[in-house]
Amino acid sequence: MGQFDGKIAIVTGASRGIGRAIAERLASGGATVICVARGANADATAQAIVASGGKASAFSADVTDAAAVDGLIKQTVEQHGRLDILVSNAGITRDQLMLRMKRSDWDEVVATNLTAAFTLCQAALKPMIRQRAGRIVAISSVVGQMGNAGQANYAASKAGLIGFCKSLAREVASRQVTVNVVAPGLIDTDMTRAVIESAKTDWAAHIPLGRLGSPADVAAAVGFLASDEASYITGQVLAVNGGMYM
Ligand code: NAP
Repeated sequence: MGQFDGKIAIVTGASRGIGRAIAERLASGGATVICVARGANADATAQAIVASGGKASAFSADVTDAAAVDGLIKQTVEQHGRLDILVSNAGITRDQLMLRMKRSDWDEVVATNLTAAFTLCQAALKPMIRQRAGRIVAISSVVGQMGNAGQANYAASKAGLIGFCKSLAREVASRQVTVNVVAPGLIDTDMTRAVIESAKTDWAAHIPLGRLGSPADVAAAVGFLASDEASYITGQVLAVNGGMYM
């Protein structure tokens, strides 16, 4: 018996990195996982899960497209009859020092990292409230908690996600829907490869546990918050950052 047997989960940004690890973690617990990314990018994740005996399908959507997000939730509920777990993970960076930051750098980051979470949650809440059960987990960042030079747009989107989720948690708690945030530190993925490989910063010196995080480290925290064991936890920010920010 897996802890997610019979559960239907959506994971956005599941084509690689943290989202892929989350999709695999939920599927390994028995969930049916709808893996979301643009184009055919999430196909490989869904195929790998199925190949290892799990239940998954890919859904092509740009999370900044509200109609596509509505279609995602609608199709999920039509096909599976319910929606138990939503992980809003898709995210981007457009780093630039403030004086050089273009308005489009700001708009794209806010649209993908924050507004998409609004659209997804609004659509997902309808079936969850009807069910009187649901788990929403949003992926923020240590940068939303600490700030970071060159990432004013990203930090604003990730801090915004925290306020958004705390408010939502209060609104829907009476329906037994929990809303929590996971705030990763520096995780080894495509997003951070350039930063990690640049010799300019000794990252390990800023991380008390002395290593980069892995996508699996983040997925373990999401798995916990999505599980029945976390039924009395809502509105929280769980940092998975090696002690980088306490
Ligand atoms: P990544 O390797 O760059 O993967 C990003 C994922 O988001 C991809 O699956 C990508 O799918 C998807 N995505 C981006 N824009 C999208 C859109 N408009 N519509 C649909 N999907 C979209 O990044 P990651 O490191 O795994 O990061 C995942 C999340 O964790 C992000 O929210 C990020 O901000 C957060 N985070 C990461 C770190 C870190 O150190 N890596 C730290 C803190 C927080 P496509 O295939 O469609 O591009």
